[in-house]
Amino acid sequence: MADFLSSLARSRRMGQVRQQGTTAELLVREIVTDLGLRYRVNFRDLPGSPDLAFPKRRRVVFVHGCFWHGHRCRQGQEPSSRREYWVPKLEENRRRDRRALRALRNMGWRTLVVWQCQLKNRSALARRLARFLETSVQSTSESSGT
Ligand SMILES: [Zn+2]
Repeated sequence: MADFLSSLARSRRMGQVRQQGTTAELLVREIVTDLGLRYRVNFRDLPGSPDLAFPKRRRVVFVHGCFWHGHRCRQGQEPSSRREYWVPKLEENRRRDRRALRALRNMGWRTLVVWQCQLKNRSALARRLARFLETSVQSTSESSGT
């Protein structure tokens, strides 16, 4: 918990400076690299600075932390303390995400949001990314999932 709070304080201090490569982002990059695709990281020329951008394919992938981006899942639950601080802040993050996705779509980009809680099933995620990026997964370690 202490670590969580200190990282919150840190990112507040850093303001607009983006945190480079969270564990979740690194995992998604690794999967995409395994698919044999090249990408740009934190493409600032695009709305929302997508975590991964595939300019030739006009596709972008965002990797979102469930808490910060207000995913409606167990991990994304709103905090029970200091709600007057967190609720508007998280709502603003959600609004900003929606705006970025809408702007990208209007520019003709296709978008995919990968949530932190979806990283547990790596092979399912790899298939989803492959489908989105219109490539195929080398079925080496295919498990019996969905
Ligand atoms: Zn989630």
